[in-house]
Amino acid sequence: MADRTGVPRRKPVPQPQQPLSETWAMDLTQQFRRTLSTKRMNELSTRSNSQRRSNPRAPADYFVDSQQPPPLPPRYGHDASAAAPPMPSRHAPFQPPPHPLVPQSSQQHPMSPPPSYAASLRNLPISPTPPTDSKALRFRSMLLSLSSTPLKWENPGLLDEALAAIPLQRIYDEAQEESDLFTAEAASLGPDKKPAWGYQDCVVRALMKWFKRDFFEWVNNPKCAVCRAPTIAQGMAAPLPDESARGASRVELYQCSSQYCMAYERFPRYNDAFVLLQTKRGRVGEWANCFTMLCRAVGSRTRWVWNSEDHVWTEVYSVHRKRWVHVDSCEGAWDAPMLYTNGWKKNLAYCIAFSADGCADVTRRYVQSASRAAPRIKCPEPVLLHILAEIRALRRKDMDKQEKFRLMAEDMREDEEFRRYIIEGLAFAVSRILPGGKGAGDSVGVNRRQGGDGDAQKITEEAERERRRLARGRGARDEMRDPTRDGEGR
Ligand SMILES: [Zn+2]
Repeated sequence: MADRTGVPRRKPVPQPQQPLSETWAMDLTQQFRRTLSTKRMNELSTRSNSQRRSNPRAPADYFVDSQQPPPLPPRYGHDASAAAPPMPSRHAPFQPPPHPLVPQSSQQHPMSPPPSYAASLRNLPISPTPPTDSKALRFRSMLLSLSSTPLKWENPGLLDEALAAIPLQRIYDEAQEESDLFTAEAASLGPDKKPAWGYQDCVVRALMKWFKRDFFEWVNNPKCAVCRAPTIAQGMAAPLPDESARGASRVELYQCSSQYCMAYERFPRYNDAFVLLQTKRGRVGEWANCFTMLCRAVGSRTRWVWNSEDHVWTEVYSVHRKRWVHVDSCEGAWDAPMLYTNGWKKNLAYCIAFSADGCADVTRRYVQSASRAAPRIKCPEPVLLHILAEIRALRRKDMDKQEKFRLMAEDMREDEEFRRYIIEGLAFAVSRILPGGKGAGDSVGVNRRQGGDGDAQKITEEAERERRRLARGRGARDEMRDPTRDGEGR
């Protein structure tokens, strides 16, 4: 409890030693580099070089030069590694030549931990490079097309309509209640304590709970509409005219498993969030689509995060915290970016966030341990930078200078946030690798491994509170449920 209320004051790297300084980070890096180099040199002797060419890596990824990182550039690569060695660069001074002492293969082995950590920490600027090969061009088209998803929600009329589907009063009341609680908790800790979350955050939290609990239904195989028996997948079907009209390009076909029924059941995959307000069901795509739109409808700035391992989720901008917050409506998860790598043990390559006013590579928010980083092979990193810059420019082309500047500053703040994660990740790795390190139980590591600001604990507490609240008030609340809902939610 005290832990959660302490959240806003909590430093990303907790108290124990000295404040986080450049020297501290550099020392840590040096230590880490030494350990890693030794380890990698040992590995090298036992590995074949056969995969060398499969994943060309830039030289020097594991060689954090001792020079101080230059001041934060507007954008820097998540992973300078994929830059081909002859890197077209305006930043030649920062580009050390391939290290003579280390065989190329050490940087090229696809199994090695992704060099993003060292590269990003060193903050080597990489120049955006336009895509040229067909693979990179395909990736570009895909990202461009994905990037238009949040634009579909920017329709004030439809957003107003969407509000009508939400029991707004109930959500606002719940948000107010929770916000008061956060305020009281902060006040009890001292006069200068900030509440963990602001009212707008609480609105989204309440919205998410309602969405998951009462509104949207998860569908694997839809139930038979005739007899409610389970159905069996029969493949795809061509969309009917009305399904097409409502934007379904794909329709899954199922057949009732009861031999007395055998009825067919169609499951059109709608990707129009406003249609989903009526169908109220789907899988992760539908959930993220409809929920993110609703967050927009209640006035939040939102991002729709696409992940290359086939997941999507939401990010909401917390004005209170001045940062983007991870929200996964399917999981009922709030500010728990480590959910996928730590919770699901998934390796992730790309997490790209799209909004109506920009886009960003947010992988580092979700992958904070090198061991959970899947290889990023869709295009070289300088090309990804270029594509993302292109999309951002497209989204911001009609904005005035001031607005563009504000967004750019926000992007830079986020980059700093990511850089902190990397430093903390390194600290954790070092603490585990170095002899005499405090190991996995160490407080830095534990907090970091759990995500954002000790999210796992927050979630556990959250879930506990939620369970209690549900147990107390479910019956009563169902009675009073907003009349805009027809009681047919699930
Ligand atoms: Zn049936």
